[in-house]
Amino acid sequence: MSVQSKTKKFNKETQKKEALLEKKESIENKLKMHNMCLRKKMFWTQFDADRRAKKIGLRAYHCPNCFQFHLTSKKMITNF
Ligand SMILES: [Zn+2]
Repeated sequence: MSVQSKTKKFNKETQKKEALLEKKESIENKLKMHNMCLRKKMFWTQFDADRRAKKIGLRAYHCPNCFQFHLTSKKMITNF
């Protein structure tokens, strides 16, 4: 128990820095993903997305980044 807490204290600064880096990277990734989303056609409802998708032979999917619907030509979509 005491060894663990000492190790924790020792690693605290490193962990803090790593956490900050991870946070920065995840924000950058989110921004990148969001930019990708902005370039795609967005739909607020699955109904609209499906209707458009059927017309042009694509498939609608719910985006985990912007929480809207996009169209894709991919046939298989794994669960997010
Ligand atoms: Zn999106």
